[in-house]
Amino acid sequence: MATTRLAIDAHEIRRQFPFFQPHPEMRSVIYLDNAATTQKPYAVIEAVSHFWAYQNANVHRGGHGAGAKASALYEAARECVAKFLNAREPAEIVFTRGTTEAINLVASSWGETFVRAGDEIIVTEMEHHANLLPWMRLAEKQGATLRVWRITDDGRLDLDALRALLTERTRLVAVVHISNVLGTVNPVAEICRIAHEAGARCLVDAAQSIAHMPVDVQAIDCDFLAFSGHKAYGPTGIGVLYAKRALLEEMPPYQVGGGMVRIVSWERRQWAEPPAKFEAGTPPIGEAVGLHAALDFIDSLGREAIAAYEHELTEYALRRLQEVPGLRLHGPVPDRAGIFAFTLEDIHPHDIATVLDTRDVAIRSGLHCAHPLGERLGGATARASLAVYNDTSHIDALVEALHTTRKVFGYA
Ligand code: PMP
Repeated sequence: MATTRLAIDAHEIRRQFPFFQPHPEMRSVIYLDNAATTQKPYAVIEAVSHFWAYQNANVHRGGHGAGAKASALYEAARECVAKFLNAREPAEIVFTRGTTEAINLVASSWGETFVRAGDEIIVTEMEHHANLLPWMRLAEKQGATLRVWRITDDGRLDLDALRALLTERTRLVAVVHISNVLGTVNPVAEICRIAHEAGARCLVDAAQSIAHMPVDVQAIDCDFLAFSGHKAYGPTGIGVLYAKRALLEEMPPYQVGGGMVRIVSWERRQWAEPPAKFEAGTPPIGEAVGLHAALDFIDSLGREAIAAYEHELTEYALRRLQEVPGLRLHGPVPDRAGIFAFTLEDIHPHDIATVLDTRDVAIRSGLHCAHPLGERLGGATARASLAVYNDTSHIDALVEALHTTRKVFGYA
């Protein structure tokens, strides 16, 4: 594979990550569990460490210089996210703990205000629990109905099926951008357009797309979009909710406390403007600084270049995985992202992961926090998932280890 032609040199990129350098405390592994979390480059670790060592202060509070500096860093991170997503303004960016909290925020604040008894919410059959349980709970609480947009047998979403589900009672379509199990890349701009035509809002779960392809909220025209820092080479404990300004204006606060209020007296309260209205308490400041460094790292490689490289690596993986007898891959082929959920003969996926671990290949097994999808697929799967630091040698090692696994379990 001609990696240089695509301007991505995975070997060179791995040099930017301590995780991939020899260390006496660490076993060197081929890391193929990137859908769970990505490794962190020095640039992120150093930015976070520098913040805690020399720049630490609370934000939007202290009258002193250190507080002003920390506030500027925190707001610079917000500006960076706004540019990264092509949001209209930084005020459309709310920092959260991750994708899960961002979606819970929308379900509680927007959902409990605008979804009423008899209304409908559409979720797809391929959602992660983070984009499923908040809507299930909201529907139960409000007396609304959850409608399930089923997947096709090859793991895609059929837009005509969406059109058939939409009614004048539909308030929201909640859809994942890239499935964390099937690797399906959903046409979210098209989905938002269809939802809007029916008068519904659209929320996009970008947890698995944000680090792997360009994500432009104006081009998608989503009402809400969520992602986590830790799946994009950044720290845990920080994520983003993007929402259109007009929606944030009409939504009540999610949590209340310090930093999100203008006036408090015994008689009345006046909330701060968005995004502060949704950021009660001391926010994840060092984590925001780390996220800023992570998005700069992604942009230093270029998202088009990352997408092209991972696309080619995915095609290589699809070809090589086909060589393994008894391997059954879920999700669409060939048009998909670098997330491969599969079964191998009758071997339990946990056993596959365990044998692979003995060959220093790290993958995940189970239901991947998508139980209804797991039910549709017939149970647990093993899952390998790619990032920009992986290369064809890693796929070769995976395939080799899968051949070994077959032998260990007595398959000729
Ligand atoms: N959505 C998808 C598609 C995911 O893959 C994940 C993480 N596995 C989440 C949501 C939840 O992300 P987090 O745990 O960082 O909140």
